[in-house]
Amino acid sequence: MRELVIISGKGGTGKTSIVGSLAALGKSKVVVDCDVDASDLHLLLNNNVREIHDFIVSCKASINRQRCSDCGLCADYCRFDAIKYEQGEYRIDQFACEGCGVCRYFCPEYAIAYEPVKSGEWFISHTDHGPLVHARLGIAESNSGRLVSLLRQKAREIADKNEYDLVLIDGPPGIGCPVIASITGASYVLIVTEPSQSAFHDLNRLLELIEHFKINCGVVINKSDINLTLTDHIKKDVQARGIRVVAEISFDPMMTEAQINSQTLIEYTVNDSTRKIEQIWKTIYNEMQSSPGFQQNSKKEIL
Ligand code: SF4
Ligand code: SF4
Repeated sequence: MRELVIISGKGGTGKTSIVGSLAALGKSKVVVDCDVDASDLHLLLNNNVREIHDFIVSCKASINRQRCSDCGLCADYCRFDAIKYEQGEYRIDQFACEGCGVCRYFCPEYAIAYEPVKSGEWFISHTDHGPLVHARLGIAESNSGRLVSLLRQKAREIADKNEYDLVLIDGPPGIGCPVIASITGASYVLIVTEPSQSAFHDLNRLLELIEHFKINCGVVINKSDINLTLTDHIKKDVQARGIRVVAEISFDPMMTEAQINSQTLIEYTVNDSTRKIEQIWKTIYNEMQSSPGFQQNSKKEIL
């Protein structure tokens, strides 16, 4: 089984439009939306939620007011300053509590409960283009890397069970922990960028990350005609690193129009962009064939 991850660093590069179109083109695959803070791929793929699961990774403390003597020991021991004396009693700020359990250990009145809390939800949806694994992380939750790893694991399980040959991953934004969780061990990473200084900056940081993990990689320059000088500079820079520029796609208002109509670009229209995306798909397939994780005797074709 192969895992193809599409990332972009910053938002607004058109990554989700390209992922949606690749999802529409691929045959034997599971799609994963790893943007757990603001997932939107399901809107393009016309999803129908089949399973909802709680995402639980930690416990949080709370004070039983009937037992508490307001001695203040718990606040003294809490190194996260999550326990405050307010309006004549000790209270725990659930957002600040890191769930270490120290307060419970030292409370002389056994007044502190320590229970699992839901940090978000993850879903398995049916879509017009196969199963989709996606999630919604709770507000102010910081476990996005762990949730991304969970989504990838669930997608692999579905792929194994159904003998699908590909897991197609819409990666999270940025370059931090969730991105690392989404690309580690992947067969191929496709970076979608655009000719702007901030995107170029993110691209360089992503390429350093990819080089560190030694993953097969390609770059798509979307909206390439909005700054031809910078596009040329990006191309030279990427190629100097020994990385392939898989395609350049001109600015295409149809990408936004298709999104507004909740469709992938491939389904919405046939134009120069969709022909480029089809070419991207074929190029990546050929690249993945030569990647170490490729099974030569794979049962199903992804194209
Ligand atoms: S240590 Fe226990 S008894 Fe003391 S203030 Fe905290 S919860 Fe209340
Ligand atoms: S569990 Fe840890 S972080 Fe949370 S309130 Fe108790 S001591 Fe503070």
